[in-house]
Amino acid sequence: MNEYENYDELEETGGGTPSEGGNDSKDSEYELFCSMCRRPESKCGKLMRLPGGLNICPDCMQRSFDTFRQSGIDINSLPKIPLGRLDFSQLQDDMPQAHQGVKKKKKEEKKPQEELKFSDVPRPHRIKAMLDEYVVGQEKAKKVLSVAVYNHYKRVFSDKKDGVDIEKSNILMIGPTGSGKTFLVKTLAGLLKVPLAIADATSLTEAGYIGDDIESVLSKLLMAADDDLERAEHGIVFIDEIDKIAKKQNMNSRDVSGESVQQELLKMLEGSAIEVPVGATSKNPMVPTATIDTTNILFICGGAFPELEEIIRQRLKGVNSIGFSADINASSDDRDRVLAQVTMDDLRKFGMIPEFIGRLPVIATLESLTEDYLVRILKEPKNAILKQYKKLMAMDEVELEFEDEALRLIAEKAMKKDTGARALRSILEEYMLDIMYEIPRDDSIGRVVITRDYLEGRGGPRIVLRGMEQLPEQAGG
Ligand code: ADP
Repeated sequence: MNEYENYDELEETGGGTPSEGGNDSKDSEYELFCSMCRRPESKCGKLMRLPGGLNICPDCMQRSFDTFRQSGIDINSLPKIPLGRLDFSQLQDDMPQAHQGVKKKKKEEKKPQEELKFSDVPRPHRIKAMLDEYVVGQEKAKKVLSVAVYNHYKRVFSDKKDGVDIEKSNILMIGPTGSGKTFLVKTLAGLLKVPLAIADATSLTEAGYIGDDIESVLSKLLMAADDDLERAEHGIVFIDEIDKIAKKQNMNSRDVSGESVQQELLKMLEGSAIEVPVGATSKNPMVPTATIDTTNILFICGGAFPELEEIIRQRLKGVNSIGFSADINASSDDRDRVLAQVTMDDLRKFGMIPEFIGRLPVIATLESLTEDYLVRILKEPKNAILKQYKKLMAMDEVELEFEDEALRLIAEKAMKKDTGARALRSILEEYMLDIMYEIPRDDSIGRVVITRDYLEGRGGPRIVLRGMEQLPEQAGG
């Protein structure tokens, strides 16, 4: 028997905060938690301290010893951290707490809003109105998302006793790059105050291959929920670039890697208990794990699906040629209108497996952003880029203005890059560098107007000096 198997002795020595070696963790802001199941000591019962700073609860004892045995790890070879002699303050500052089996106690009384209740979930029209403050255009997508999210949380909090089980409303978002798919999801999670994990489908691989395992997505969610399992289980997972894991078409040797990633995602999307590493993205015997039930996690998948439009057009043409749906103008260049008519069958043709699409019953298509939208994105959202620059300049007591024509030029340039609203910030940042550099140099400047001429290199910005009329002065290069 090694010294750590003497549980009674450890019980006497341990417990409470390590710094005090006593049993008064009630008063501390921190408490120990089980390195295997992650439950705090107050929930799982007295923890047994193992070498290597591991703390194991009675329920996980057998599993942890099995893990050590299977991995060939000699428990006595792990570094011994003396009980009752840890400097707790140092532990907080120097060490990642999750790995040392210490985490902050849930401050339920201080943050009651973190426990999501159905009454906290706004009605669809309220969700849409909140999204409107941040996301320009995409009216249909915002509406679809608002309803789907509302229904999702209705389902989560619904009474299951009557046997009526509301099906999961996971969402598939289809829209060009930079049209706001990720931004919509981020905004939504922020408004609902639920944890969000964003993953890229291209980095996910089948278990055993180089890349992130499917479970890594849930590890990220757990991290976003500050290791609070309950919050994570009500969170949102966004998997971007989902079109990149379509079955490859027109290939002699069929590439199955995408298909198998779709297969592996099925279980998670549907809702099941999945064991995930905590505080890391890959499984390893030394990394503690937690079991996450994905039943109430909302999965949103997004992608640009570039060839999907052609698949839909082909289908629409076929339908037209036999005389039905004559009102559908399949030859129209209206990409968004064509895309909005997507069906499960089109997605299957694209290379998504039927079971996978079946688990994403809500489809939201996003419009490609026009130049007008890009101008609005620059100035209208609550956190618009222009508002941010204005705020920066206001801290130097300088008023910043943009002429409409200047904004139009920025939008035109962004359109040429064909990356939606993504290009706006970098274009603007380039133009603003000189302004941000030169203006704070001169205390007499009270107002700066960015003109199209300035952006096109035909002169400086319009400068107005403090307490004076407009002067034709120049700043910047
Ligand atoms: P996608 O995920 O569709 O490729 P993103 O959501 O990453 O695009 O968009 C990139 C950036 O562009 C966002 O961070 C956001 O600032 C801005 N953006 C995109 N679409 C919109 C929109 N409709 N309204 C406001 N901002 C937007």
